Amino acid sequence: MNIILLGAPGAGKGTQASRIEQKYSLVHISTGDIFRANIKGGTPIGKVAKSYIDAGKLVPDEVTCEIVKDRLASPDIKGGYMLDGFPRNLFQAAELDKFAKVDLCLNLEVDTSLLMDRICGRRVCSCGESYHVSTLNGATTCAKCGKELYQRADDNPETVGARLETYEKQTAPLIDYYAKQGKLKTVVCGNKTPDEVFAAVCEILD
Ligand code: ADP
Ligand code: ZN
Repeated sequence: MNIILLGAPGAGKGTQASRIEQKYSLVHISTGDIFRANIKGGTPIGKVAKSYIDAGKLVPDEVTCEIVKDRLASPDIKGGYMLDGFPRNLFQAAELDKFAKVDLCLNLEVDTSLLMDRICGRRVCSCGESYHVSTLNGATTCAKCGKELYQRADDNPETVGARLETYEKQTAPLIDYYAKQGKLKTVVCGNKTPDEVFAAVCEILD
């Protein structure tokens, strides 16, 4: 099974992705994580990506599509994979249809008014876990693995504003794109906890 996780920044794609990865043994492919690893490693791709990511814009399609195409050429994805953060516009979706077979697009629907606070209060761990300052009670390490938590460089109000706008203009049209292909399943997150959202996700995937 090959699936796409769709949703606005802060919708909880990463949180659900780690759970899905564990339960369904799908390889988790996050373009955001790939770009951040490249930035950390100071690679040429990282250098290009950084200016776009800091501005809350999409990294150019040529770069992004090439990365995903390469990643999907690796044999470890044969048992199925989950794309998190790709595609992010109609061009990328059309490209993906040329080199991969998508079975399902899982759309996490959230109230956009919640997102600014959610993202700006987010603290993440390199193990993939994420938290919100409001529930950390001052803790600075990951409850799961003990590593130090940090804030993503693009989780600041200016960049988040631009990311939300980019999502509305460029990514949201994918909802229709996959609905038309008969592949869309939407989970309305409302005020569900991550566990409740995951239960709804499992009902779809099972
Ligand atoms: P979020 O979903 O919280 O915005 P991501 O980690 O998925 O976080 O993405 C972070 C940034 O990486 C995006 O704002 C964008 O600049 C870049 N990025 C990630 N995926 C793509 C993509 N498919 N196409 C272009 N840029 C991307
Ligand atoms: Zn951790």
